[in-house]
Amino acid sequence: ISKTYIAHKEEIKVLDNITYEFEMGKFYAIMGHSGSGKSTLINILGMLENADTGKYYLNGRLVNDLSDEVKTELRRDNIGLVFQEFYLDENLNALENVILPMLINSKINKSDRKKKALELLTKVGLESRVNHLPRELSGGEMQRVCIARALANDPQIILADEPTGNLDVKAEKGILENLKKLSEEGKCVIVVSHSPKVKSFADKVLELSEGKLK
Ligand code: ADP
Ligand code: MG
Repeated sequence: ISKTYIAHKEEIKVLDNITYEFEMGKFYAIMGHSGSGKSTLINILGMLENADTGKYYLNGRLVNDLSDEVKTELRRDNIGLVFQEFYLDENLNALENVILPMLINSKINKSDRKKKALELLTKVGLESRVNHLPRELSGGEMQRVCIARALANDPQIILADEPTGNLDVKAEKGILENLKKLSEEGKCVIVVSHSPKVKSFADKVLELSEGKLK
C-alpha cells in the first residue's frame, strides 16, 4: 500500500509501496521517529483511513472497496484500537467505559455486558477500580481500561498507537505485559511506538523509515 498527503502544495509520501503480512498470535513492534507514518499505518490497518493505492486484506477479505458501513462492522468484530490519548469518556466509570463498545453489538446480550466488562477489567488487573472515573485513575490504569475496552467485542487484532507515550516506565511495563499476554492468547498485536522498551516484548520488530517498512 502507498499513502501520500498533499498539504500546502507539498507532497508528503508517507507510505511508499509497503507490503507486509501480519500473522495471528504475534506481537509486532513497529518503530519509527516522529512523522515517519506510524499513525497513518495504524489508521489504515484500523480502516479509519484509506490507502491511495494497493490492497489491504483483512483475514483474506479485500477491504478497499467495502462500504463504510461494512468497514465499521468489520472493525467492531475484528479490531481493538488503543491510543496514546486514551479517549475515555470522562463521565463514565471504568466499567461503563468498557461496556460502551458492547452497546453497538447485538451479539452480546444486555444481561451479559456487565459480567463481561468485569472479566475484562479483572484480566488487566483493575478489578479494584471498576467504579473509578478516569480522573480517579493513574495514566497506566486509564490505559488498562482502554485495553479492556478494546477487548469488549472479542477482536482478534489489537492495534495500538503509542500506547505508552503518556506513561512512566513502570506503567509502560504493565501495559506491554498486558499486550504481550494477548498475543500469547493468539491475537495479532501491532504496536507502533518510538519507545525502545517495546522492542523487548516483540516477536518481530519492524522499522518504518522513508516510507518503507523493514
Ligand atoms: P507518526 O505517527 O509516525 O508521527 P504520522 O503518520 O502521524 O506520523 O504522519 C506522517 C507524516 O504525514 C507527517 O509528516 C505528517 O505531518 C503528515 N500528515 C499526517 N496526516 C496528515 C494529513 N491529514 N494531511 C497532511 N499531512 C499529514
Ligand atoms: Mg503518531
